[in-house]
Amino acid sequence: MLKPKGFTTRIIHTPYAREDANHALHQPIYSNAAFDFESAEQMELAFQGRLPVHAYSRITNPTVENFELRIKQITGALNVTALSSGMAAVSNVIFLLASAGTNIIASRHLFGNTYVFFESTIKEFGIETRFCDLTNQEEVKANIDSNTVAIFVETITNPQLEVVDLKSLSQTAHEQNVPLIADSTLTPPNVFNAKEFGVDIDVISSTKCISGGGTSIGGLIIDYGTFSWSKSKKLATLSKKFGPYAFNYKLRREIFRNLGACMSPFAAYLQSLGLETLQMRFEKAATNCRELAAFLETMPKVTAVNYPGKQGSAFEAISRQQFGDYPGAMLTFDFATREACFAFMNNLELIRRATNVYDNKTLILHPASTIYCDFDRETREVLHVFDTTLRLSLGIEDIEDLKSDLMQALNKIE
Ligand SMILES: *Cc1c(COP(=O)(O)O)cnc(C)c1O
Repeated sequence: MLKPKGFTTRIIHTPYAREDANHALHQPIYSNAAFDFESAEQMELAFQGRLPVHAYSRITNPTVENFELRIKQITGALNVTALSSGMAAVSNVIFLLASAGTNIIASRHLFGNTYVFFESTIKEFGIETRFCDLTNQEEVKANIDSNTVAIFVETITNPQLEVVDLKSLSQTAHEQNVPLIADSTLTPPNVFNAKEFGVDIDVISSTKCISGGGTSIGGLIIDYGTFSWSKSKKLATLSKKFGPYAFNYKLRREIFRNLGACMSPFAAYLQSLGLETLQMRFEKAATNCRELAAFLETMPKVTAVNYPGKQGSAFEAISRQQFGDYPGAMLTFDFATREACFAFMNNLELIRRATNVYDNKTLILHPASTIYCDFDRETREVLHVFDTTLRLSLGIEDIEDLKSDLMQALNKIE
């Protein structure tokens, strides 16, 4: 039996977990809540987890399962769980690992909602987040103690575009018996192999590149089976019975089920289809990003351009090591004033003013006045979100059209 090796081939030819009754060539949308059983005995076995069938779509669903299987094929993960959003993936992982009196190590450079989740939501449940500079291993070590349950990092931080050396961070984490959790939304699995860089649990907002052009909201928890859960206070007992499956057991049989943030079959269908073209779309968007970063650098009114793949960027070498030729499809650039940022945005004719990233369309926003509008200016400065910065997420349009739009918008500002 031929075993395909190519990234896209593996996605497209992922076998179904169970054949469809009508031999549909694409996994159909099973949009039902419950599944039928032939006998009470079968039902008992299913509920005990001893029969691999579906019972209720909040727990498992064939369309969602097929999407999870495709992600498993390309990541080499032990277990994959699809959820209703990227935030659901983040919150499920944290509720699984943490409890009152424990702490998490993270940078302040985080996606806005994740930051508030750490800084406020879980604090109210007695979970502390120790914010520190994850590029500084000494600082990380000094913050870890026996109550640390996870280190959480974004592979490219949004919108600061900082890149941490993940192998070093993972080494620090593992020396202290702590799992490394990474949000790799900005570096999808075709360019970044999280397992190879020592990530134990990966979370992804599949709303972004995987969805196939901003078609739906979704999230993923990817468990590589690399962490020894006997070292986790909360999972030590389960790990005696389930070994590397302890995390997944706790997730599937308790946290994910009880928090109820499952992916809908319709979203799974769209995202499964989106996944088939992920590699092509992302390579195009990331190439557009590289070219536009260079283009914006030459513009006199632009005072700074930030992109991890930029020549001379402090993160250029580490980005290349970790993400190869495609260090993300997002850049930021600055004007002298906030007014110039607004005027520039308003002049754009093709590039859309919208808050998503990794859509097929190129999107722009002013982070300080939108995602970070609930924070005062001092807090924003601590987060390195400045009034003079615009964020551009590259789509898959033809580069000349993007350049023309940027050019005409630049020419019109004072
Ligand atoms: C969008 C995003 C999230 C949240 O995902 P949703 O699907 O919107 O809930 C988390 N992390 C990063 C880096 C993101 O870009």
